[in-house]
Amino acid sequence: MKILVINAGSSSIKYQLMDLADAHRYAVLASGLVEKIGEATGRVTHTIFTDGQEQRFVEENPLKNHHEGMSRVVALLTDPQRGVIRDAAEIEGVGHRVLSCGEVYSDTVRITPKVKATIREFFPLGPLHNPPNLMGIEVAEEFFPRAPQVAVFDTAFHQTMPPKAFLYAVPYEWYTRHRLRRYGFHGTSHKFITQATAEFIGKPLAKTNLISIHLGNGCSMAAVRHGKCVDTSMGVTPLEGLIMGTRSGDMDPAALEYIMGLTGMDIHQMVNALNKQSGLKGICGVNDMREVVEKAAGGDAQAETALQMFCYRIQKYIGAYLAVVPHVDAIVFTAGIGQNSAPVRERICTGLGHLGIRLDLAKNAARANGPRAIHQAGAPLQILVLPTNEELQIALETKQNITGA
Ligand code: ADP
Repeated sequence: MKILVINAGSSSIKYQLMDLADAHRYAVLASGLVEKIGEATGRVTHTIFTDGQEQRFVEENPLKNHHEGMSRVVALLTDPQRGVIRDAAEIEGVGHRVLSCGEVYSDTVRITPKVKATIREFFPLGPLHNPPNLMGIEVAEEFFPRAPQVAVFDTAFHQTMPPKAFLYAVPYEWYTRHRLRRYGFHGTSHKFITQATAEFIGKPLAKTNLISIHLGNGCSMAAVRHGKCVDTSMGVTPLEGLIMGTRSGDMDPAALEYIMGLTGMDIHQMVNALNKQSGLKGICGVNDMREVVEKAAGGDAQAETALQMFCYRIQKYIGAYLAVVPHVDAIVFTAGIGQNSAPVRERICTGLGHLGIRLDLAKNAARANGPRAIHQAGAPLQILVLPTNEELQIALETKQNITGA
């Protein structure tokens, strides 16, 4: 079944066309990124995969809006030389990544006018993502009128959290009237990792307990008990929790008033600084973990401090989640940093032997791309590195929603 996965951002559209039967039998036919929509020069990077060969095409042309961007995607997918299908009608379903639906949906849903109204209702709680996500849906409906459109929400997996985990200790009517609560994000990734962990360790999903550690540009953790999320580190927005490339993570909210008073920043500038100028970048000037590790290894004291802070925050969350999930089977590293940075994994696991976390240094350092275990033989807790695949998860859920299987 051919499924197109779309992740529309404010000036970009990420896409992947898959032909899939199930989680193990699928092929990526094409993938790409439309960037700089609305800017002087737009760019489309389009890659096709045929007979094990990868071919990449780059186009640079101004793209006025998402409609023009999507029209290039359709043209490239159906192009006799650069395409992989003859007609857009071959696409049997479109799966959209959507940031937030609050508490309204706890699963993937077929897009209807009511679903679109809900996505709109949550614009204030996902101001950077929900509006372009909805735009992506509306242009896809125009270009693929016969294909069912499906929304996969980044918050859905976390809807199983109990109130003690998702409520903030603030006036209760902020929750009942204004919907303020922890929603969590990266849900599609944490769900994929939960299923992949159950499969890797050979346990039924309903008996699998784990701590999922997603370390990419954004970083978050999920505590999973019996296959269901019971707590997560991101909050009402993706700013809370772990230290990230440019986000502060947890902070004392009263500090905002103090710094705003001293600097004259308004609240928008402050939240922007916490989202874009903080985290690793705020401490050592760079946000790419490869550069931070390199600088720290070269003796840069600020980079060393940033690295220590990043890993220490994760250690604290591991401690907290081991307390709330009894009998954890595995802690699992995923995403750009989690999958690729042996030094970061080593720093996180070092000193946690008393919690059953015993890393095998050689296995950790060995270069590999696939799923793997990196704990010492006989250790009480498994430590795994599992590649996440959010596009595959979206495609699978889209297919399931359409076919019921
Ligand atoms: P996103 O969250 O946008 O999906 P990724 O999961 O691709 O991002 O993660 C991107 C991050 O992964 C980059 O910021 C980079 O710091 C980090 N990264 C990728 N490869 C490595 C590596 N070999 N060592 C350390 N960090 C890496």
